[in-house]
Amino acid sequence: LNVVELSGGVGGARLARGLDQIPGLDLTIVVNVGDDDDIHSLRVSADLDTVIYTLAGVEGAEGWGRRDDTFTTNTEMGALGADNTFRLGDLDLAMNILRTDALARGISLAEFTSQAAAALGVRARVLPASNDRIATIVVTSEGERLAFQEYFVIRRHRDTVERLEYQGATEAAPSPGAIEAIGEADLVVIGPSNPPLSIWPILAIPGYRDALEAHPKVVAVSPLIGGRALKGPADRVMDSLGLGADNEGVIKAYGEIIDVMVVDESDEADAGTVAGVEVIPASTRIPDAASSLRLARFLVGL
Ligand code: GDP
Ligand code: CA
Repeated sequence: LNVVELSGGVGGARLARGLDQIPGLDLTIVVNVGDDDDIHSLRVSADLDTVIYTLAGVEGAEGWGRRDDTFTTNTEMGALGADNTFRLGDLDLAMNILRTDALARGISLAEFTSQAAAALGVRARVLPASNDRIATIVVTSEGERLAFQEYFVIRRHRDTVERLEYQGATEAAPSPGAIEAIGEADLVVIGPSNPPLSIWPILAIPGYRDALEAHPKVVAVSPLIGGRALKGPADRVMDSLGLGADNEGVIKAYGEIIDVMVVDESDEADAGTVAGVEVIPASTRIPDAASSLRLARFLVGL
C-alpha cells in the first residue's frame, strides 16, 4: 500500500509515526519548508527535523528538537554577545551544521534529508516539499511583516495573523518524485497539522494542488478538537484569517482537495457530509506510538 502524508512539524510527525509502524506500508512524507530559516548562518529546517527525529524515536518532550538535548553552545553564543533567543540544542546543532554544509557543497535539501533520515534509521521516505527556498511571512494586525520563526519562536505566536505570504512558493518546484508519489499513492493523508501555517505553504507550490485534486482519496485529519488546537496557534490563526476555529474551518481551508476529513470522536456532532466532504469521527489524540498506530490503521481502513 502506497501512502503519502503531507506534514508540518509536531502534529504531522505524530501521525507519520503511526503510519510508519504498519507492516507493508510504503510511506512518503512531504514536509513543509516554509518554516526554514537561517540562524547564525545555519539552515534550520524545523519541520523536516521534527519528522525525522520523531520517526527515529529521538524527538524532544514537546515533540520537536532532540530528547535530553543540552544548550551549552547556545548559552556560550549568548555570552559572546549573540542574540540566542532562537535556541539550538547541542545535539540538534549537528543536523543543522551538516545540512548547511551539504547545501553549500551543492547537495540538494532532498538528498541531504534522505541521507540524514536513513542514518538515523528512518525507513519512510522523508521529502522536503521543495528543494527551493520558501519563506512563510506573517503579516500581523499591526501591519508588521514577520519572518516565520520570529513570529513563532521569538514572539511565541502572540501576534494576530492578518495575512500570510509564502515567499518564493510560486517560483518553487516540488521535490523530485513528490508529485509522482501522490499520483501513485493509494491514499493521501493530510496530517493534523496547522492548515494555514504548515499545509498552505506546500499547496502554494505549483503542482501539489492539481495532483491532490486529481487524487480520488485525500483524507485530512483535523488538528482541532472542540475548536481548540492541542498546541500552537492553529485555532487563533484560522479565526483571524476568517476560516473559523472549528472543523468546518479546516474543511474550508482545504476546499476541493480533500474527500474525507477525520475529526475527533468528541466532535462526532460534526460528522456527516459537509461541503461535499465526508466527515468521520475517530480517536485523533495521538500523543504516543500506540494511539498513533490505531489512528493510522483506521485511516488505511478507509
Ligand atoms: P508544527 O509545525 O510543529 O506547528 O506542527 P504541525 O503544523 O504539524 O502541527 C500543529 C498542530 O498539531 C496543532 O494545531 C495541534 O492541534 C495538532 N496536534 C498536535 N498533536 C495532536 C494530536 O495528538 N491529535 C490531533 N488531532 N492534532 C494534534
Ligand atoms: Ca512548523
